[in-house]
Amino acid sequence: MDNKKSLIAEQMSGQRKRLVLLTLLSLMLGIAIVSQAGLLAEAVQRVFVEKASLSSVALLLALLLSVMAIRTLLLYANGRVGLSMAAEAKANMRSAVLQKLTHASMPSTLRGQTGGKVSVALDAVDEADSYFSHYMPRMAEAAIIPVLILVFTFILHANTGFILLFTAPFIPLFMILVGLQTKNKSEEKYAQLAEFSGTFLDSLQGLVTLKIFGQSRRQQQQIERSSLGYRDATMDILKVAFTNTFMLESIVMLSIGIVALELAIQLLVFKSMPFHTAFLVLLLVPEFFNLLKNTGTAFHSGRTSMGAVRKVEQMLAEIGGGTQPEEGQQSSAKLLRMPPSIALDDVHFHYAPDSFELKAGPVSIGPGEHIAIVGKSGSGKTTLLHLFAGLLKPVSGTVMVNGSPLTEWEEDSWFEQVSYITQHPYIFAGTFADNIAIGAGRTVSRDEIKQAAEEAGLSTLVAGLEQGLDTYVGEGGRGLSGGEKQRLALARAFLKRPALILFDEPTVGLDLQTEQILQSSITALARNATMITVAHRLYTIRQADHILFMDHGVLAAAGPHEELLEHVSQYAEMVDIQRKGGSA
Ligand code: ADP
Repeated sequence: MDNKKSLIAEQMSGQRKRLVLLTLLSLMLGIAIVSQAGLLAEAVQRVFVEKASLSSVALLLALLLSVMAIRTLLLYANGRVGLSMAAEAKANMRSAVLQKLTHASMPSTLRGQTGGKVSVALDAVDEADSYFSHYMPRMAEAAIIPVLILVFTFILHANTGFILLFTAPFIPLFMILVGLQTKNKSEEKYAQLAEFSGTFLDSLQGLVTLKIFGQSRRQQQQIERSSLGYRDATMDILKVAFTNTFMLESIVMLSIGIVALELAIQLLVFKSMPFHTAFLVLLLVPEFFNLLKNTGTAFHSGRTSMGAVRKVEQMLAEIGGGTQPEEGQQSSAKLLRMPPSIALDDVHFHYAPDSFELKAGPVSIGPGEHIAIVGKSGSGKTTLLHLFAGLLKPVSGTVMVNGSPLTEWEEDSWFEQVSYITQHPYIFAGTFADNIAIGAGRTVSRDEIKQAAEEAGLSTLVAGLEQGLDTYVGEGGRGLSGGEKQRLALARAFLKRPALILFDEPTVGLDLQTEQILQSSITALARNATMITVAHRLYTIRQADHILFMDHGVLAAAGPHEELLEHVSQYAEMVDIQRKGGSA
């Protein structure tokens, strides 16, 4: 609960100067409002009651005009301060979300739906805008100006002061009642929106699969359901907002009516009051209530914003820690782009308690060795690879790199040394060249990109394209086959020249030529690196210096191929199946 307030409080404390400025502006605005009313009443009194000539009040009118101009300027300045507060707060929140997403551990980053995360990072943060741009300035005004007007009214005519004092509390009282009612509504609205965005994006991405299985209609209904859910949540909030405005208007009208009635009685029946005072009071009272009414509306939008901010907070909390590497960070210079040695002591890992468990170790991989992880599907090969990579953290036990725990390495400098070629590398929307250049983490020349593409065996493909390396690939661009994507990932790796290569060998059969290209490129890349491959091909397995054989999440055996063939019957069986299955 404590950190629920923290995000707003954090933003506020970063913006103290602007808050002080808001307070000052509000004070000046209050003085301008009172002066404007005073000057107007004076002018009316002179022209209409005392029948003074227009020229004699010229100075007064000029003064009135300049006060009005100042008031407008102050209002504008107030708005500007609010907007810049909102802009800064939104930028901060978005960068906090991005930071968390990029630095958190892999499982927590992947948790939840992408569409939902996008909606929180974009829509919910946008909704937080009005808290800073609307709610805060109005609250600053409400804290100062009504008090100023009230004091002034008491001095002018105590009766009206009392009427204001008795009717005004109805407005905050009413706001509290509404607030209680809408407490969870806006949070609910954001939950609905996130769900809707998640379902929508998911369906779009899986459209082909849905069509093939004839499920597009069902999915359509699901989208409809979640969009209706969002509509209802929004309508609920709007309903409250409209009732809110209606009730506030009624209270205000009624209160002004009472004041006017009282003034009329004083003025006409008892004749106990000069016109000038009555008129001035009558000018000030609507200002007083208008301010309170605006506060009411701002209060409502502030609440909606709070719901959105809470959603952002919730997401930040869900993604959890892991932003900082553990203490005892050491310099990254240790690795020096030399192939590292990697070792596991008794490492234990699970994604969640009571789910798949992995036990491995002790294992020791020498610098420059090539390791193959083999085992049946679901035996934990990829999980083990991710543990080696530092993408997952062991629940117990340690991954040691060059003799020191991996957790002591600074994350960025560690990943600078590592290339991970997955089966389905992510291709960003952009050109071929852009996608390759990502690998370098620095600005690279066109020639370097060309060279990398060639080394990865992409040159024939690229040469066949009309726009060559400038062809658009990724979402919205030219499609690439699985083998081509992997070669693109390889080209990235060639630019990077990693000291550690992680390779998830394709399980699907590639054509012989593609496979040969891939194979020779990988061999070239791995000449000066430690390499760990999740291997499916007999060829790769035979070539490896060491095999790690996984069975049901346990590292069942480790050693050279021949040795395992001889001593581990399960391994021999698996190899046999592979051989018969024709490992292409
Ligand atoms: P392999 O690569 O040998 O096919 P994996 O390491 O991918 O096996 O998966 C091992 C087990 O871990 C599987 O049972 C899989 O369902 C489970 N698993 C994989 N990723 C996750 C995850 N992110 N959360 C929970 N369980 C997972």
